[in-house]
Amino acid sequence: MLLKAIVAVVLSATPGAPVPADSLMMPGVSRELAADRRARITDIRYELSLDVTGTDTAAGRLAMRFMLTGAGDVIVDFRGVRLRRVRANGATLSRPEYNGHHVRIPASAVGVGSNRLDFEFDSRIAPAGASIIRVRDPVDSATYLYTLLVPSDAQQLFPVFDQPDLKARVVLRLTTPTGWTALSNGGRIRVDSGATVTTHVFAETKPISTYLIAFAAGPWATRTSAKSQRPITLYIRQSRAADVDADSIIAQNDRGLRWLEQYFAYRYPFGKLDVLLAPAFPFGGMEHPGAIFYSEERFIFREPPTLPQRLGRTATIYHEVAHQWFGDLVTMRWFDDLWLKEGFATYMAARMQASLEPASGAWKSFYLRNKPPAYAVDASDGTTPVWQELGNLDQAKSNYGAIVYNKAPSVLKQLNYLVGDDAFQGGLQRFLRRYEFGNATWQQLLESVGEAWGQPLEEWGRAYILRPGMPVIEQQLEVRDGRIVRLALVQRPARSISGPGAWPIRAEVLVAPATGSPIRIPVTLAGDTTVVAAATGLPQPSWVFANADDQAYALVLLDTKTVDFLERSLGTVTDSFQRAMLWGALWDLVREAELSPDRFIRLALRELPRETDEQIAAGILSRLTRAFGAYLSQAGRSNRVADVERVLLGGASDSSGSYGIRRAHLDAFVRTAGTPAALSRLDVLLDEQSIAGLPLGAPTRWAIVTRLIASGAPGADRRLAAETERDKTPEGARRAFMASAARADPAVKRDYFARYFADAELNEDWATASLDAFNSPESRTLTIAYLRPALDSLPWIQRNRRIFYLGSWIGAFLDGQVTPDAAAIVDTFLASNPGLAPDLRLKVLQASDELRRTVTIRARYRE
Ligand SMILES: [Zn+2]
Repeated sequence: MLLKAIVAVVLSATPGAPVPADSLMMPGVSRELAADRRARITDIRYELSLDVTGTDTAAGRLAMRFMLTGAGDVIVDFRGVRLRRVRANGATLSRPEYNGHHVRIPASAVGVGSNRLDFEFDSRIAPAGASIIRVRDPVDSATYLYTLLVPSDAQQLFPVFDQPDLKARVVLRLTTPTGWTALSNGGRIRVDSGATVTTHVFAETKPISTYLIAFAAGPWATRTSAKSQRPITLYIRQSRAADVDADSIIAQNDRGLRWLEQYFAYRYPFGKLDVLLAPAFPFGGMEHPGAIFYSEERFIFREPPTLPQRLGRTATIYHEVAHQWFGDLVTMRWFDDLWLKEGFATYMAARMQASLEPASGAWKSFYLRNKPPAYAVDASDGTTPVWQELGNLDQAKSNYGAIVYNKAPSVLKQLNYLVGDDAFQGGLQRFLRRYEFGNATWQQLLESVGEAWGQPLEEWGRAYILRPGMPVIEQQLEVRDGRIVRLALVQRPARSISGPGAWPIRAEVLVAPATGSPIRIPVTLAGDTTVVAAATGLPQPSWVFANADDQAYALVLLDTKTVDFLERSLGTVTDSFQRAMLWGALWDLVREAELSPDRFIRLALRELPRETDEQIAAGILSRLTRAFGAYLSQAGRSNRVADVERVLLGGASDSSGSYGIRRAHLDAFVRTAGTPAALSRLDVLLDEQSIAGLPLGAPTRWAIVTRLIASGAPGADRRLAAETERDKTPEGARRAFMASAARADPAVKRDYFARYFADAELNEDWATASLDAFNSPESRTLTIAYLRPALDSLPWIQRNRRIFYLGSWIGAFLDGQVTPDAAAIVDTFLASNPGLAPDLRLKVLQASDELRRTVTIRARYRE
C-alpha cells in the first residue's frame, strides 16, 4: 500500500511542464536554441558574485557581457530558486518574461554590438538535487560546499547561456563564512576577510564551457608536495586529512600533465592546478579546468589497496588530466559528441600508463576495465551509436554510459592501430591546435587524423562512430592429419539493430603451436568471412585467438578445439595479457549460453590456486561469483558450494600468496559465503581481526558485517552495532547505512525505497552505494516487488538525479534478479509504456540484457 503510494507521489511530483508556444523557451536547451545563440552571440564574460553564507540558499549577482552579431530577443537559461532583478544595458526590465527555465530579454533591450545584462538571483544549496552540494561532516559537524554543473546545471546556479559551444571567460567572487577557504577554476587573487564573512576573488579564466565552471568552499585542509615540479594544491576535508597520501596523488597529476604536454606538444593551458577530494562525490572525478575534483571515498584507501584498486585510481587521475586538453581546451560542440572527450580521456590515460609505468600491464588493465562493460551494452538490444543524437541538453545524462566510456576508447585503440602511432599523435596535435579554446565534432577529429595518415577516414567513422552495435567474430578451425586445413574468421553483428554488413577490422591472429611462442598473423577483415591464408598448413595449434593485444573491437567466439585445450590447460598460457583475454573469451561463451557455468566454475576453481597475476585472479573471481550466485540453479549451487567456499577461503588463508591475490579471494569469499559454517567463519574473523596474518581493514570488516546482515546470520545485529561503535569516521556512517539496506526484512526494504525518493537529506552517493545491498541475493523474493516501481520511477530519476545514478539504480534492481518472472516484469513494463522516452527504453534494454542472459543460461543448464 505504502509502496504504491510512493510511486504515485514520484510520478506526480513533476508533471510534464506545459510546452510554451515559443519552442526556444521550452525546458532545457533545445538544439534550436543553441544554434540560434551560437549564430549571434560571441565574446561572453560572466562576472559572478555568490554569497554562500546561507544554509540553503546562495544569493547571487551577475554581470553578463557579450557581443551580439544579429538582432532579436536574447534567451538566457536559469532554473535557480528565484530571479529577483534583471537589467539590460543599465535599464531595469520591470516584468521580464521568465518561465522557470529561461528569461527572455526582448530585442528592444539589446542591440547589435556589445551588451551587458545584470541579474540578481538566488540558487539552492542542498545535499542532493542542487548545483551547490552541501556535505555535513558527521565527525566534526563541519560544512563543505562544492559545485557539480555537468552536463546542464550551470543554469541552476546562475543565469547563463548553458551550452558547451558558447565558451566564456569567468570571474568569480565568493563570499563565505570567515575561516573557510575556497578554490575555483581561476587562481585566487584576493581574499577580503571580515569578522564574520570573507570574500574570495578569483582570476578571470580562459574561455571555458559552462559545464566546466566550478568552485568549492569550506574549512578544507590543504596539502602540497615538495616532489611536484608544478605547484599543485590538494584540498581535503579536515576529518580525512590525516588519511590521504597527498604526495602520490599530487605526483601522478603532475606526471600526467608533463607527459601530455610532450605528447600533445601543447603546454598545459589553464595556469594553476588544484585538486579537491570531494566528500560524497557522485562521480570518480570531474575535469574542471584548473580545479579537478576527485571522489574522496575512492581516493583514500582505508586498507592497503590491491593492484586493480591502485591502477584504477591512477587511471582516474590520468583520465581527468587528459581532459584538460580533450574536453576543456577543445570541447565537443554538443553533447551528441560526448564520446570525443570521454573516449579520449580514457584512451590517453592507458597510453600514459603504458609509457610511464611500462611494467604495469597497462593494456591488460585497459582490456579488463573496458571491454567487458563495452561488450555488455553493445551486444544488447539497447545499444546506441558512439555518436548519439541529442535534441535537448536536458536529455544529455542519457548519453553517458559504457558506449562513451568503454566502447569509445576501445575504437580509438583500433584507430591508433590502423593509422599507426605517428599519424595518430600527429593528427591529435593538429586537432588541438586547430580548435584550441573552441569546439569540434567527430568529423573534424577524423579529418585531422586522416590528414596526418594521408587517407580519409569517413568509412571508418560510419562503421565505428555512426553504426550501432558491434561485430562478433567466430573462429572456425579445421584440422586434418595434424595440420591446419582452414582457419576462417566469420564476422556478424551481435544484434540485428546494427543491420547487415561487415565492420572494417585490422587485427592480428595468434596461432599457438604445441610448444613455443604463438605465431602472429596480421589480418584485415573486410567481409563476412576472412580465411587466414597464412595459417593453412601450420601444425595443429594448441589454441587460436583472433584478437592479439586486443587491437580489434570485437567479441571473439572461440572454436571448440581451442575451448577444449583451454579447459585442460589455460594455466599453461604464460603471457598474462593473452591469458587475461582467453579467460574473457571463455566467459563470453558462458554469457552466450554456449559453455555451461558449472564448467567455467570448475575450471576457475582448478586454476585459481596457481594464478599469480593479481588482475587476472580478480577477474576470474568476479566471474566465478557471478556464475555461482546467479547462473547456477539451486541444485547446482548446492553441489558446488563446498568447493567454492573451500577454494576462496584457502586462497585468502594462503600466506605464501601475494597480498592482492589473498585480498581478492577474501573479498570473493565474503561476497559468496552462504553455508552456516562459512558465515560463522566470517563472524569469527571479526574477532580475530586477521586471517593467517592478513589484517582485516575497515572496508573488509564492513563487507563482512553487510554479508552477515544480508544472510540473517545469528548475531548479525550485534555485529552491526559493534562495528558502528568502532568506526566513527564519515565512511563508517556510510557503510552502516549500506549494511542496513541488505537486511531481508519487508519493513526495511519499504523504508529504504521510500527514502530514495523522499529523503532530501540523503545524498546520492550514499543512496547509490546502498543499492546493491538492498538487492542482495538473499532479498530477491522481497525485492522483486520493487522491480516495477523501480522501473516506473525512471523518468523521475532522470529529472532529479545526477548522471550515473540512473544506471546504478536500474543495474542494481535488474542484476539482483534471476528469474523468468523478473524478465516478464521488464517486458510488461516496456509493453505498457509506449510513451516511455526512447533514451529510457534503451537504458532498460541495455540493463536487462544480463537478466535475460541469466534466465537463458539457467534454463539451458539445469545442473
Ligand atoms: Zn571523463
